[in-house]
Amino acid sequence: MATLSPLLKQATPVLAARGEGVYLYDTAGRRHLDFTAGIGVTGTGHCHPRVVEAAQRQVATLIHGQYTTVMHEPLLRLTEALGEVLPASLDSLFFLNSGSEAVEASIRLARHATGRQNIVVFQGSFHGRTMGAAALTTAGTKFRAGIGPLMPGVAVAPFPQSYRYGWDEDEATRFALRELDYLLATTSSPADTAAFVVEPVLGEGGYIPAPPAFLEGLRERADRHGVLLVVDEVQTGFGRTGRFWGHEHSAARPDVLITAKGLASGFPLSAIAAPAALMEKAWPGSQGGTYGGNAVACAAALATLEVIRDEDLVGNARRQGVRLHDGLRKVAADHPVIGDVRGLGLMQACEFTAPDGGPDAAAAQRAHKAAAGHGLLLLTCGAFGNVVRMIPPLIVDDAQVDDALALWSAAVADAVG
Ligand code: PMP
Repeated sequence: MATLSPLLKQATPVLAARGEGVYLYDTAGRRHLDFTAGIGVTGTGHCHPRVVEAAQRQVATLIHGQYTTVMHEPLLRLTEALGEVLPASLDSLFFLNSGSEAVEASIRLARHATGRQNIVVFQGSFHGRTMGAAALTTAGTKFRAGIGPLMPGVAVAPFPQSYRYGWDEDEATRFALRELDYLLATTSSPADTAAFVVEPVLGEGGYIPAPPAFLEGLRERADRHGVLLVVDEVQTGFGRTGRFWGHEHSAARPDVLITAKGLASGFPLSAIAAPAALMEKAWPGSQGGTYGGNAVACAAALATLEVIRDEDLVGNARRQGVRLHDGLRKVAADHPVIGDVRGLGLMQACEFTAPDGGPDAAAAQRAHKAAAGHGLLLLTCGAFGNVVRMIPPLIVDDAQVDDALALWSAAVADAVG
């Protein structure tokens, strides 16, 4: 008899039987308020009727269209629809299955397009688990330990983490940009540097929004040195931060954008977009994969885009993000162990800090577990595991946010006694 490998980690004890909107139901029929959204995937909620209907229709029509063999309509229609929401300059795109695969594709594309080798990443970032993406990932040593040697040609610059440094955002930004300039002068010559790869909000690394001036500083340096600015919007895209794309909180626009997660409401689908002139620097067949742009996933993504537009989920994420953030701040005011509350839109987190200013992972883990006991599903993140994050579906309403806050307040009280 086979059993599930112990190498997978499960954040909650739930055996999910069914999902509906912001709720998951376990096999015993118990309802859980899902503020994980499958790690920021089910923005339209679990099993949105329009997504279900589109996928069911497509399943009965054509499941596997295999884009390196034949083309199919859902993929072509989705390409067109994404053109409406992507920055206008990113007018060429293709599909893969996961965020990691799209990150791999961005390394390939950046190297092909520039003829340069090095990739500069920012400390605390998560870009995936495949070996190229893992080489770009510094969100925690658990993602790198014991698997080296990793891909060479990766240089790591600081990300402006103001809370950790005890600085304000401007100071942290100035420091990070100065260190990037130093890195380009000491370690990775601009002539060897293909791309800067950055998350608009550090995700797995602790839910730390990039200050707008930081992204703008990267843009300016990218232009100055002929380096590509690759923005990893795998977690921040599709309305999650209260703008359609996370980078839209700044004036910086990327040369390459990577998206996945919220794109298809739970079907495996990712995409990478860039200007056609940049894509043309590589050759047909230099990218691709067997399952990329699956017809059912594309149909689900088309329905997802319609739901986001028709139900104003970006606006809702912005409004509910403020409600959630304000509520989390009130809870934190009663509990000094929560040293910081931060986030953008419906990507919010609480960082647990010990009296000496260091991370208090034990308290965060207790609060996370207590929340699950109260029926509120959450995730942790951060290099030290001391950050509890909330990523509800973008359809969440006032009453559900208030419910979550009441459950969170009880969970924190349980956790800190
Ligand atoms: N980039 C970011 C910013 C992510 O948050 C993730 C997943 N958490 C990935 C890449 C990797 O995506 P996937 O798990 O689909 O490979």
